[in-house]
Amino acid sequence: MTSQPGAAGPGGAPASAPGPADPEHDVTASYALDPARVRALTRRLVATTGQVVVTRTPLTGQPLASVPQSGEADVEEAFARARRAQQAWSRTPLAERAAVLMRLHDLVLDRQDEILDLICWESGKARKDAFDEPLHIALTARYYGRTAKAHLATSRRAGVVPGLTRIDVNRVPKGVVGIISPWNYPFTMALCDGLPALLAGNAVVTKPDAQTMLTALYGAQLLEEAGLPEGLWNVVAGPGRELGTPIIDRSDYVCFTGSTATGRIIARQCAERLIGCSLELGGKNPMLVLRDADVDRAAEGAVRASFSNAGQLCVAIERLYVADQVYDRFRDRLVERVGAMHLRPGLGWGNDMGSLISQDQLDTVQAHVDDAVAKGARVLVGGKARPDLGPFFFEPTVLEGVSPDMTCFGEETFGPVVSLYRFHDEADAVARANAGEYGLNGSVYSRDTARARAIAAQVRCGTVNVNEAFAATFASLAAPMGGMRQSGMGRRQGGEGILRYTETQSVATQRLLRFGPVLGMSDRAYARTMTTNLRLLNKLGRA
Ligand code: NAD
Repeated sequence: MTSQPGAAGPGGAPASAPGPADPEHDVTASYALDPARVRALTRRLVATTGQVVVTRTPLTGQPLASVPQSGEADVEEAFARARRAQQAWSRTPLAERAAVLMRLHDLVLDRQDEILDLICWESGKARKDAFDEPLHIALTARYYGRTAKAHLATSRRAGVVPGLTRIDVNRVPKGVVGIISPWNYPFTMALCDGLPALLAGNAVVTKPDAQTMLTALYGAQLLEEAGLPEGLWNVVAGPGRELGTPIIDRSDYVCFTGSTATGRIIARQCAERLIGCSLELGGKNPMLVLRDADVDRAAEGAVRASFSNAGQLCVAIERLYVADQVYDRFRDRLVERVGAMHLRPGLGWGNDMGSLISQDQLDTVQAHVDDAVAKGARVLVGGKARPDLGPFFFEPTVLEGVSPDMTCFGEETFGPVVSLYRFHDEADAVARANAGEYGLNGSVYSRDTARARAIAAQVRCGTVNVNEAFAATFASLAAPMGGMRQSGMGRRQGGEGILRYTETQSVATQRLLRFGPVLGMSDRAYARTMTTNLRLLNKLGRA
């Protein structure tokens, strides 16, 4: 049974599974991952401990793959390979490096069916949410493939003595970049930060999350097929708390995506070594629906923003602040849309939402909802686990009446739960949106886009979308993306996303003049001449 649009009202339940007549959704038939194919992927790991971890698909709980595990010696070996390969790579003309990414762009689009199957198998998400991943990687490959030359070109700056001091600023690769990534967007997160690192002339050692290794390894295979020379992309597998330190100890720069708690540990370790890091962390992202918003459009955006990948999306909206004047209409529209969502397992198109990744995630989501309900919040739609669909399914859920004493008021749920709040005054709404420790992504809906942009500028988040929820900033690769406050440090995407992997090196070429007294001039006379020159340059308006 699939639910009909508008079937569920307040207190109703969305969803349901299709019957066996729908072969695309017959999960029992779909999960025989070919062992030869799995072995071909896991062979790419640097992993010699002899231990394996069996991963399971969240869709049914059935085993998916035996993944060999890496130890510290493997991390050492991965870095040794990376360092050897990086020497030649940094001298490879940029056009050749960029050509690898342009080939990857085409390969990702050509192989999207395989990529989507792997993502769905490993993460349990709906196919439409999985599609965001090859899309994002194709955009990333193309953006950096086409713009790296402009970002990395040596630039000229003003020298101290105009005409006589020439300054060139070079962009020098850091060396080997360590990348630690999460499970929620396993293809995107495995590749998107590494591509600019490669283009900038670095090698990469990456540790994807244990739950989604196959998707990450498929990304490594595609890079190889795109012509990336051996040794530049090295993948290790194992628990972050064991491999994290060996990776950080050997990296020249660390790029981490994950929770704020782990980000703090990584930042401390990088500080100890005086190496840079970028941290893409959690969020409790707000959306503001202003009194003149297009209510239908805002409700559509809220559904996509709150329930894409079952809310396991760093930029997902978990707080909806809605103006008094449109609150009731917006709430009814939202509940109607959520009630009409199709929630079901399967690899095929047509699902609106899939599974959560694990029992841990399910427990967190259930605990947040139970706590809110126990303290007086109302469930407008959803609110329940759905073991009839799969082990970790949870309904898309809208809460009303959430108060500061409830866990889900300020803590990231990272699941399909969003809270509705009414506001009377826009300044108050902005202050409430800015409350709490996070500052990753925000959204403002209004028909007056200039006013919405002025309000967006007051929202303390690294990305803010006007009349969109998250996709407009995330897919605009030229725009930097990342968090303020406890949501992170540094930015991916744009110039910032590639320059973080370089050191600046200033090279000065001095002509004629020396920096000291000449022709028997005394130190005192030299100081007088220089003072006169400084005054003159200031009068001439030179920097
Ligand atoms: P997590 O921090 O538990 O794990 C992320 C990665 O870090 C995994 O590969 C894990 O193995 C590794 N790790 C764990 N402990 C480590 C340690 N001590 N040292 C080194 N590595 C360690 O996060 P998670 O729960 O898997 O991911 C969800 C979180 O990630 C959410 O908070 C979400 O908001 C955030 N996230 C942020 C972004 C972003 O771009 N800002 C994107 C996706 C996810």
